[in-house]
Amino acid sequence: MSVLCKEMFELPEGIIYLDGNSLGALPKGAAARAVKTIEDEWGAELIRAWNVAGWMDLPRVVGNQIVPLIGAPKDSVATGDTLSIKVYQALAAGLQMRPDRRVILSDTGNFPSDLYMAQGLTGLLGQGYELRTVSPEEVANAISDEVAVVMLTHVDYRTGRLHDMKAITELAHQKGAVMLWDLAHSAGAVPVDITGCAAEFAVGCTYKYLNGGPGAPAFIYVRPDIVEAIQPALSGWLGHDAPFAMEPGYRPAMKTERMRVGTPAILQLVVLQEALKAWEGVAMSELRAASIALSERFISGIEDTCPMLTLASPRDPERRGSQVSFAFPEGYAAMQAVIDKGVIGDFRAPDIMRFGFTPLYLDEADIDSAVARIAEVMTSESWREAKYQTRSRVT
Ligand SMILES: *Cc1c(COP(=O)(O)O)cnc(C)c1O
Repeated sequence: MSVLCKEMFELPEGIIYLDGNSLGALPKGAAARAVKTIEDEWGAELIRAWNVAGWMDLPRVVGNQIVPLIGAPKDSVATGDTLSIKVYQALAAGLQMRPDRRVILSDTGNFPSDLYMAQGLTGLLGQGYELRTVSPEEVANAISDEVAVVMLTHVDYRTGRLHDMKAITELAHQKGAVMLWDLAHSAGAVPVDITGCAAEFAVGCTYKYLNGGPGAPAFIYVRPDIVEAIQPALSGWLGHDAPFAMEPGYRPAMKTERMRVGTPAILQLVVLQEALKAWEGVAMSELRAASIALSERFISGIEDTCPMLTLASPRDPERRGSQVSFAFPEGYAAMQAVIDKGVIGDFRAPDIMRFGFTPLYLDEADIDSAVARIAEVMTSESWREAKYQTRSRVT
């Protein structure tokens, strides 16, 4: 069975989009849904919409549309804020769970914002708290009984390398550490069984493979058996047990609701809810098979035609997520020239040309056409043109 549902997305004519790992494509119903929410709910109902349009409950409702994609039980995921904020919340909660330990362990391949949030938190706490980073290959050996929280991103944002979620979580638990997985490049990209691996926390974003749109809310999963013991570090009123009682003191809400912070971004949430319709009935095992077929086809096409590009992702498809990266010293300029040819990927410093594979809206013909256009840029060296050399703010 095919997972391809291109007709559910607005894709510009002539463009092959290989950047759905960074910002997913626009789902067809999204714009109409946003307009409906603005006009019929906000416009017509004004503040009544919080109740009559179900806005207040939306973070939980949308969380329940995400749970099947990560193998989590109902009501174990809260949505809202950005991923950086959710990383902070999960880390703070993890440290509280191991008060006699001082180390957050992560790897040097982690996304900078995750590391920055950990630095901010350890700086604030003082008292010997530290962020320790080792290379991805060294993580397993570096989990010691000093480690309070192991914080890893499942799929490396640069190379697509996959960590073994189950094995590392088991190791962390053997050493008494709490496990936090960042699923930014996993949710909607690879099968995830968060319940099966028994990690305490997982976080992720929804504007990448889940197509929620720029700035779409993040999500946080907390293992149901520990959530009631968590005292949220970001104790906002909407994570309070009775926000409208306006009590002077904070009392956390039931279960995962306590990971909410402030007023939810309703316009983003309704667009995300619309986007998640594309996932109804999608088996992640089938999506994974399609993703591997597309990425294998891409790698062999590029290696046949572009000897100047070096594969920077694991060659074994079982060891990478749904993206493929090639290293090239002039990668920035080359990617600009490739984009000019209608193949949109992106660049990550220092030399990575990155291509994402989203089987919901990419087929084999797209891959063949992308390979042909990339080969044309690389063999003609059209990337040498001056216009491709200046860097924009977002790469
Ligand atoms: C995309 C990504 C982020 C982005 O965080 P925001 O707060 O949503 O901007 C953070 N961490 C990882 C691992 C990511 O891939």
